[in-house]
Amino acid sequence: MVWKKEVRRVRDRQAAWIGSRLYQEGLITANFGNLSYRHGEGFYIKRKGEYLDPLGDLVFVPLDGEVPADASWEWIVHRAIYCETPHQAIIHAHPVHAIAISFGVDEVLPQDCEGELVCPRIPVVTGASGSTELAQNVAAALADAPVVIVRGHGTFAAASTLEGAYVATSAVEHACRILLLLKGIQNR
Ligand SMILES: [Zn+2]
Repeated sequence: MVWKKEVRRVRDRQAAWIGSRLYQEGLITANFGNLSYRHGEGFYIKRKGEYLDPLGDLVFVPLDGEVPADASWEWIVHRAIYCETPHQAIIHAHPVHAIAISFGVDEVLPQDCEGELVCPRIPVVTGASGSTELAQNVAAALADAPVVIVRGHGTFAAASTLEGAYVATSAVEHACRILLLLKGIQNR
């Protein structure tokens, strides 16, 4: 299984690069947020309490069966997404403008070019952190959208690659920032 090890090495390198970019762009703070990618009969995910930048060793979580105690707190959401959608990689971030705009709305419709292209309709869902309810709501929303905002909490983006999930995370924050700027101008 040499090729599997090589695939992991490439994905781990990409995960570390993306973890760093998420921090640099202000899409995460402190040790919040997490990422994972599908592999074999499960997925590799950030460990509980660790940072995305610098990113340490990821831990394997099976799609079915016992979950290691040091897997990220949100493993339940990642597992539901992998079980119910064809996505291969997931990023959970806490972008401030996306969180701010999520109060009082059920979806966000970007008006900027990038947002309309990458995430034309962004569902807003609810659910307590680490709960089955959150896992079900996020997985259902990601069946036909690349990114979802959890109200007052953050984003879950999913794609065929970590880079795709990162681009969606960045695009949703960019779109929400523009929408809030527009709101400020219109309220003058
Ligand atoms: Zn979170």
